[in-house]
Amino acid sequence: MALIQMKTPLVEMDGDEMTRILWADIKEILLAPYVELKTAYYDLGLKHRDETLDQVTVDSALAARKYGVAVKCATITPNAQRVEEYGLKQMWKSPNGTIRALLDGTVFRAPILVRGIRPSVRTWEKPITIARHAYGDVYRNAEMKIDGPGRVELVFTGADGSEKRTPVFDFKGPGIVQGIHNLDSSISSFARSCFNYALDRGQDLWFSTKDTISKTYDHRFKDLFQEIFDKEYSAAFQKAGITYFYTLIDDAVARIIRSKGGMIWACKNYDGDVMSDMVATAFGSLAMMTSVLVSPDGIFEYEAAHGTVTRHYYRYLKGESPSTNPVATIFAWTGALRKRGELDSLPALSGFADRLEKAVLATIEGGVMTGDLAALFEGSARTVSTKEFLQAVRACLESA
Ligand code: NAP
Ligand code: MG
Repeated sequence: MALIQMKTPLVEMDGDEMTRILWADIKEILLAPYVELKTAYYDLGLKHRDETLDQVTVDSALAARKYGVAVKCATITPNAQRVEEYGLKQMWKSPNGTIRALLDGTVFRAPILVRGIRPSVRTWEKPITIARHAYGDVYRNAEMKIDGPGRVELVFTGADGSEKRTPVFDFKGPGIVQGIHNLDSSISSFARSCFNYALDRGQDLWFSTKDTISKTYDHRFKDLFQEIFDKEYSAAFQKAGITYFYTLIDDAVARIIRSKGGMIWACKNYDGDVMSDMVATAFGSLAMMTSVLVSPDGIFEYEAAHGTVTRHYYRYLKGESPSTNPVATIFAWTGALRKRGELDSLPALSGFADRLEKAVLATIEGGVMTGDLAALFEGSARTVSTKEFLQAVRACLESA
């Protein structure tokens, strides 16, 4: 069979540890036999980030800007222990943070549902998509340790030399302080991508912040969403028979748990980080969730929401064959290939992505899966290693 051809390269961002191993296996077993892969390859493995003083991360984001579609492997965000483990020149920033800051936009995360795995929340019947703002707040913070008594103030110095200041706290002893920011432009594009996504999906949009406590910061998010909705989207939502609904984050959490699902829940950056992990785990597994960053100017970066699965990697290094779930990473590739196919008018490429996803679901529904899923599966499940799982998916793809 002739390989499916691509027109424009995908930006390929390789990563670390167990997911780096999965990455190579997925390409070898499930992609290369069917698609003449064209990628602009960037090695975001920690060693190479260190060698390039993290320039490779910036370059990969710029390449995503150039080509429009990227697929990213999970990467280590270094902490003190990693600095020692890898002998790093510096405690490099989170690659996701760097890429998101350059692309801006919103991360949409939705669970991958399979028959045989029921959500832990009994009322949930439909997937809940989390729309996570991908710019600013605690991910672009400035922090300081306070060593003793003294005053902390917020000071704004205008370009015209004007000044605004407000006290933060009068410290009587040691403590900590942090400054965070966001931009009207970023919040507005976050709002627009959520409204567009809701219309595209025909699903209600919920948005929540803590505006009762954060009367200026969080309130700005609420106001901008409402202004943009009233001016630009209210009529389209009415026509589509969907609603936009704002509520406090704690009220949203309670309502989500009681709901049937099926909505898009827009969250600020940190809320979205935490809530997407909770929603994914409640739907089955962190490894059963798709994640895509959509920038306001229409750039797509697909990834898995989980990390580099360090514990499995250390077992792999000892010679074991871990049963690490590759589904989210496969779906990152299929999402990117499908989008490339749509943008380049290559139905064969998009069709391949659809078939591969179906083969993954059919393999699991047929009772072959990794250990994380086997523990939840209703029915008889055969736990296999990652490689065996990929081969089972390949067999399913061949027979379809
Ligand atoms: P993690 O890699 O997501 O793994 C945490 C635990 O969740 C694993 O030990 C495993 O549990 C389970 N798990 C996660 N993904 C799985 C999969 N695909 N299949 C089976 N089980 C899975 O999180 P972490 O251990 O906190 O972080 C490890 C590294 O990843 C860190 O260096 C962090 O900086 C990085 N990270 C990167 C990203 C990203 O690039 N998007 C996101 C988060 C974290 P068991 O061990 O119990 O089987
Ligand atoms: Mg997270």
